Amino acid sequence: MSVPEFAPVLHWFRQDLRLADNPALAAASGTGAPVVLLYVLDDETPGAWRIGGAARWWLHRSLSALDKDIGTHGNSLILRRGHAASIVAQVARETGASDVFFTRRYEPFAANEESELAALLEADGRRARRCGGGLLFEPEALTTGSGGPYKVFTPFYKAAMKALRAQPIKRAPKKIPALESFPAGDDLDGWRLLPRAPDWSVGFGECWTPGERGAEAAVDRFVESALQDYAVERDRPAIVGTSRLSPHLHCGEIGPRRCWQLIADGVQVRTGGLGKGADAYLRELMWREFSHHLLHHWPDLPDVPFREAFAAFPWRSDPEGLRAWQRGLTGYPIVDAGMRELWHTGWMHNRVRMVAASFLVKDLLIDWREGERWFWDTLLDADLANNAAGWQWVAGSGADAAPYFRIFNPVLQGERFDPDGDYVRRWVPELSRLPAKHVHAPWRAPDSVLEDSGVRLGDTYPCPIVEHKAAKVRAMTAFRGLKGTAENR
Ligand code: FAD
Repeated sequence: MSVPEFAPVLHWFRQDLRLADNPALAAASGTGAPVVLLYVLDDETPGAWRIGGAARWWLHRSLSALDKDIGTHGNSLILRRGHAASIVAQVARETGASDVFFTRRYEPFAANEESELAALLEADGRRARRCGGGLLFEPEALTTGSGGPYKVFTPFYKAAMKALRAQPIKRAPKKIPALESFPAGDDLDGWRLLPRAPDWSVGFGECWTPGERGAEAAVDRFVESALQDYAVERDRPAIVGTSRLSPHLHCGEIGPRRCWQLIADGVQVRTGGLGKGADAYLRELMWREFSHHLLHHWPDLPDVPFREAFAAFPWRSDPEGLRAWQRGLTGYPIVDAGMRELWHTGWMHNRVRMVAASFLVKDLLIDWREGERWFWDTLLDADLANNAAGWQWVAGSGADAAPYFRIFNPVLQGERFDPDGDYVRRWVPELSRLPAKHVHAPWRAPDSVLEDSGVRLGDTYPCPIVEHKAAKVRAMTAFRGLKGTAENR
């Protein structure tokens, strides 16, 4: 089919579920032609890292919010399901679209999708128009002195800070011109993205408002209440000391540039300058950049240890231990609190992610990929780059990872970062009456205290499933058996 004169264009929504600060959408609307707005759910094409369970809940809500917003701009969101590149090319054909605009993604399967689409469109005489917007820096933009990719965060961060420039942020297009009649699309409910029988997502709606407006409200809330003390309070899981923007950023309901700009503007208005909080926040956004940089240059990061020596690590098979960890029944309160927070809210505090992950990998000696898979299915912010980099960092197998011999002590971590035990009490109600002194190590509490608090170890709350000191020795022995642990790829 040839491209008609005054042909429409197509914007393919991917992880850019927003109207403002969306360079691809701005370019599509800027053509002045009618814009076909399409989202494709591609969860059937074989591939190990398709969207996880919790993230499907978020996607449903996010698409629903996007559709409403698009409606107020005089257009409609078309939903289709199937092999993304083929479907996009097919809708371009059906509507006679001359150009297909989309925001670049960085997962290996997504990069393949883009090349496949470009070839299909070219064969039809149409153009693929790829734009940035998901990152502050494209993964090729920053290189080391020798021209290669970075493997270490600090020099990456320094280079990024040097190169960071304020850029004008485009508002949502006032109107997105539509075709006179819309192509057929699926019904969102028909995709059955929401869990039923059982509906394990009941807690999610109480904590989250997916969608572009929800993202902006989260930024406002953060600037208003937590940013100033972020550098210190970001490590305290009992309080809302971080932005909780990760699922919004993952789905692209807000781009990192606008997120950063809103935070910088907000803090400047309030305090007349950027403070420690804003600097610390930008550093975290740079960890996100670094993870994507790593995934782009080492596409097997989610599956293969970055340090080759770890391929021979003697991981244990321990289905019971894995299950206790997943269900928050390890007997280590800070770990259990984190795993239960994850199950109920679809999110876990970063400090506790590190402690819980370390417990799985080092105390239980279970392969980090088991934990990565569980997080992938249960996190609302499940993100291939951040999740893989986070797990490899904790496991000690990653680029610039925490050294393997630095093994978190879950009791000390709890006492340090949850000193009053409020976080543990919220998520592990069996321990809610224990005094702070004992809440992170109930097995050390005198019998009388346990009795007064209604705790019967091994009955109302589990005894520790491993003894940390012995587990640490076992982990160190396994690690010392590896050769060449310092070698990167
Ligand atoms: P804030 O402290 O407000 O940080 C701001 C933003 O910076 C976050 O929204 C996030 O986009 C980014 N960010 C913060 N910390 C990191 C980090 N260490 N690495 C990369 N980006 C970061 N983050 C995900 O978005 N998805 C994941 O699947 C994910 N899996 C993780 C797995 C493990 C084992 C670990 C240790 C960390 C993981 N993280 C992941 C990183 C981090 O825990 C979350 O980004 C953070 O807790 C989100 O909360 P927030 O939005 O309040 O963060």
